[in-house]
Amino acid sequence: MQLMRFQPSNVIFLVGCVAYFYIRAVFARHTKRNEKIVRRIDACERILLFIVISSGVVFPVFYLSTPWLGFADYHLPAWAPWFGTICMLAALWLFWRSHADLGQNWSVTLEIRKGHHLVTHGIYRTIRHPMYASIWLFNVAQALLLQNWLAGWSSFLAFGVLYFTRVSREEQMMIDFFGQEYRDYMKQTGRLFPRKFHAQ
Ligand code: SAH
Repeated sequence: MQLMRFQPSNVIFLVGCVAYFYIRAVFARHTKRNEKIVRRIDACERILLFIVISSGVVFPVFYLSTPWLGFADYHLPAWAPWFGTICMLAALWLFWRSHADLGQNWSVTLEIRKGHHLVTHGIYRTIRHPMYASIWLFNVAQALLLQNWLAGWSSFLAFGVLYFTRVSREEQMMIDFFGQEYRDYMKQTGRLFPRKFHAQ
């Protein structure tokens, strides 16, 4: 396939994607053998995960390699790709940091592993969902770097639906498993922003 849109902002997006999948692959390998004892994945979660992953790949691939999505292009001011690059770097740092802090307790979906312990150190000391915060940031970077309504915003929309249906269920699962320890942890932290900036 011939790359038709080879401008710097698209290359930055592609490099960011490779780094993102590399980080995920490294940590997924570490946790592969760690047994799961609770699974709260249902049909809705599976469908949403599929939509998030496929929309995050299909539209950008078509946008970058064919002229078919040209009808949905938009044009942002010159500062936008720079700001997108900063968001991308911040997203990658946060994605790596949250995987490193969660360690063996990470799962792609709603699961509790054997020997699971509640992580309250590192980035989790101030926010409960830094990995989701990093995905939000990545989606903002995507919209600023790929200036196309479909390729730029598809993941943002799909992840938005996944985030708002998942986050309370994840917190309920953690309360069911860790009880008061998680309730206390919730009082000290915010979901996506430190509590002192944003009460939630
Ligand atoms: N919501 C978190 C983690 C995403 S990975 C974030 O955005 O950073 C999803 C899995 O992480 C969940 O299935 C749960 O088992 C685990 N998890 C979430 N928060 C945790 C915590 N503070 N300590 C240990 N495991 C946690």
